[in-house]
Amino acid sequence: MKALRYHGARDVRVETVPDPQLADGKDMIVKVTACAICGSDLHLYDGLIPTLQKGDILGHEFMGEVLEVGREVRDVQKGDRVVVPFNISCGDCFFCKRQLWSLCDRSNPNAALATKQFGAAPAGLFGYSHMFGGYPGGQAEYVRVPFADVNHVKIETDLSDEQVLFIGDIFSTGFMAVDVCDVQEGDVVAVWGCGPVGLFALKSALMLGAKRVIAIDRFPERLELARTKCDATPIDYEKSDVIEVLKELTSGRGPDICIDAVGMEAHGHGLEFWYDRVKQAVGLQTDRPTALRQAVMACRKGGTVSVPGVYGGPIDHFPFGAAFNKGLTLKMGQTHTHRYAPALLQRIAAGEIDPSFIITHRLHLEEAPKGYDIFQHKKEGCIKVVLKP
Ligand code: NAD
Ligand code: ZN
Repeated sequence: MKALRYHGARDVRVETVPDPQLADGKDMIVKVTACAICGSDLHLYDGLIPTLQKGDILGHEFMGEVLEVGREVRDVQKGDRVVVPFNISCGDCFFCKRQLWSLCDRSNPNAALATKQFGAAPAGLFGYSHMFGGYPGGQAEYVRVPFADVNHVKIETDLSDEQVLFIGDIFSTGFMAVDVCDVQEGDVVAVWGCGPVGLFALKSALMLGAKRVIAIDRFPERLELARTKCDATPIDYEKSDVIEVLKELTSGRGPDICIDAVGMEAHGHGLEFWYDRVKQAVGLQTDRPTALRQAVMACRKGGTVSVPGVYGGPIDHFPFGAAFNKGLTLKMGQTHTHRYAPALLQRIAAGEIDPSFIITHRLHLEEAPKGYDIFQHKKEGCIKVVLKP
């Protein structure tokens, strides 16, 4: 089959590899009909996630048709149309039973590698390095999906792939980022980053009852989409003092909820940005937390900072004293996709939202390397790339 493989930082290639095979009675093989490039893939693409190896197949946002199931699979069969959550869960461990799906204790065969880095291992993820299980990803023609009964959402409506694909990752991610903040009537929600995750966080904040949403980025087309499709007040962080503007918009208090939908590769300017960049380049710190620092400083006393943006290692100059003395609540983590995807599918089917509004580029799988390049550099107004094998 054809699949997209990592060859080194900013070097990915579509190559022919052996088709995946069932390896366990609980597995299924999915024939991919649509997949996407996620902001999290960019951290891999930039070579910032340790234990990714040359030849690894990337991709964790995908859907398709079930081609084959193992002997013990009960809830899906050949021919079913499914979206596959990006995190792999067993459905049966301490964490899965508590709906903490992205923390599954049984799906990461390389738990020791992750435990060394994090103190304990999160769930296995498709196409996301060996520390996260070393599973081949979904930017491919076929994928092996472990624990098939648990790791699928069946699509039994005639909604298009483009309308449902994102419940397996970024729509669930944007939604959870807000859901964990327990929005109260009248709340103001500020979101750093107007990529796919940020845009879905803005949309979800309104769905969950926020009074006002504010969007922070620097790309005009992204800010414009936030304004027109998510009713957000846009702030260009290159043209204004974000914290001051947020104060002006919130009677001097700051937003009730601040969401970092940027993550470890934040862009910035001035001394602070270069300090982080240099430390990241020489390996003294893995992440550039510009947006996170700002979110903590901007948040109103007693408010919540939620972090869907991915971080991988130590960060520097984190204003922990500000978080402590303002009594902030911090929420974060890989999305518990299984908890959200079915309910979001219902909202889509009911016509409450059509997630395909973020798609700017539709490419063939063979063009995936070009997709990575334009998405990483936000060329051609790129917001989201969908690939079709
Ligand atoms: P993206 O690259 O399209 O979006 C990031 C946006 O942040 C860009 O528009 C960029 O201009 C903006 N940005 C950069 N620096 C900024 C700053 N200082 N202030 C404000 N905005 C800034 O990526 P995406 O697909 O939207 O993903 C966003 C983050 O969410 C990534 O870190 C990704 O890894 C993460 N993510 C997490 C999960 C999860 O399970 N928690 C799932 C999917 C994606
Ligand atoms: Zn993702």
